[in-house]
Amino acid sequence: MREALLVIDMLNDFVREGAPLEVTAARAILPALRARLDAARAGGVPVIYICDAHRADDPEFARMGWPPHAIKGTTGAEVVAELAPLETDPVIEKTAYSGFHHTGLDGILQALGVGRLVLTGCVTNICIHYTAYDAVIRGYQVVVPADCVAPLDPDDGEFAFRQMTRVLGVAVVR
Ligand code: ZN
Repeated sequence: MREALLVIDMLNDFVREGAPLEVTAARAILPALRARLDAARAGGVPVIYICDAHRADDPEFARMGWPPHAIKGTTGAEVVAELAPLETDPVIEKTAYSGFHHTGLDGILQALGVGRLVLTGCVTNICIHYTAYDAVIRGYQVVVPADCVAPLDPDDGEFAFRQMTRVLGVAVVR
């Protein structure tokens, strides 16, 4: 079964020190994620970037209580330099937690003949978790390498691993 590597929300506004929605743990996963990215490229595995791209007045900010982040077109909404996409990599913009919500992700995966997704990035219990759910209900196998995802809070991250494993049938690889 063909696999794809999804890199989710590894954007300046999440990863950089002092970023508006800083996920401190996202910096610690950079080396492992970089290695996985290199391995995927070497093995011909498609790499797809899923990136928050909000309007400045996105109602998500008020509704969910998030500080404004990843405003479309700003440096903050760009993938961190360490993991920069190649020209040929699909970069999918999203405005909700799931990478499937109102995006072309499903169509791209089908066109590539992909059946298994490796989810990486941040935040473990938010965009990773909800993307995992949307992937599973669409029939994809989902793998989450624990060293390549980052939570805002470690307890929330462990809760998400349990939910993904026990409720969604996701393979969380430690
Ligand atoms: Zn967002």
